[in-house]
Amino acid sequence: MTKTTHHPLEWIDQELASLDRQWLRRHLATRQGKQSSQIVLDGQELVNFGSNDYLALAADPRLADAAGAAAREEGWGSGASPLVTGRSETHQRLEQRLAEFEGTEAALVFSTGFAANAGTIAALVGPGDVVFTDRKNHASLWDGCRLSRADVRAYRHADCDQLERLLEKAGGYRRRLIVTDSLFSMDGDLAPLPVLCRLAERFDAMLMIDEAHATGVFGVHGRGVAERPELEGRVHVRVGTLSKALGSIGGFVVGSRSLVDWLVNRARPYVFSTAPPGPAAAAAIAALDVVRDEPERRETLLARAHVLQGRLMCQGWDVFRTHSQIIPVIVREPQRAMQLAAALGERGLFVPAIRPPTVPDGEARLRISLTCGHTPEMIEQLVEALEELR
Ligand SMILES: *Cc1c(COP(=O)(O)O)cnc(C)c1O
Repeated sequence: MTKTTHHPLEWIDQELASLDRQWLRRHLATRQGKQSSQIVLDGQELVNFGSNDYLALAADPRLADAAGAAAREEGWGSGASPLVTGRSETHQRLEQRLAEFEGTEAALVFSTGFAANAGTIAALVGPGDVVFTDRKNHASLWDGCRLSRADVRAYRHADCDQLERLLEKAGGYRRRLIVTDSLFSMDGDLAPLPVLCRLAERFDAMLMIDEAHATGVFGVHGRGVAERPELEGRVHVRVGTLSKALGSIGGFVVGSRSLVDWLVNRARPYVFSTAPPGPAAAAAIAALDVVRDEPERRETLLARAHVLQGRLMCQGWDVFRTHSQIIPVIVREPQRAMQLAAALGERGLFVPAIRPPTVPDGEARLRISLTCGHTPEMIEQLVEALEELR
């Protein structure tokens, strides 16, 4: 071995410099005060179009009160993994509420949605099995596919014809699993769930959908995109998050009792990780109360999103018609996305620039996330600023 004179981590500085040159380096910002439609970020006051707090619950006092009461009752930390002593009555109560909310036999709460996805896929398939994944699925689904060591077949975004051809060739595998986001996080569009249900049935595959951006927002009761009588019973594994519209932290899986029992035994992020704090579960229960009692939050949100999309399209922006609260404005080049985000920042508006590798090359964009906390005046301010920058 020859002796090197440089530091073993020196390559990192070179890589970071390379990211800088391509407008691809990311920097952390710090929020002062509450997560809300109006925030202070690195000292600057901004209207915030960059949160997943779709129902404006993250800073709702009802969640803070519920968490505070639970913290005084059971303390903050859970102190152990759920299978040992970490699962409290509050977690159990949340799981019961989630199963009722979703109309399923059982529910299981994970520390994060990421852990729920990665752990569940790896518990459902392994060597000798095959998993079919939409190319635009969330990173946590992809990581679950890789962790599982099953064969992975990626199909073009929402391309059910290609999926069908891949399924036709997969008869020799022990088990087949189809996984998809229900509402795609970067494009804001919806998965073709009716066709996916049919294909799963025809080819004897399990169907798992990730409702992370749809929990609390879509469906008559806020269960998600699959909340339709003709679909709900045909989705075998449904994942949601407590961290976005529900304003807390955690992920959950709902389905049959035996599915949940299997995950308790085999989902490694569940088995080998400390249970999330009970107070976080208490906050999520308070959020489920709001979802039940205040449907106008999700209704207003989707109605306003629809209007905003139409207006941006009229201005000539390349906007996906998504029918959701996630509105991507495609500008292609990372530099253009960064410059537009900066110009909006100067006008008191925070809209994140999304660049590769989060989206494919040539698809850099501004990603507008609307919440029910945005007033018509705030939305007007955004429309006017984008008109000016067009
Ligand atoms: C955010 C997100 C997750 C992860 O959920 P967390 O609770 O934030 O870990 C999973 N899937 C999708 C599609 C997401 O957007």
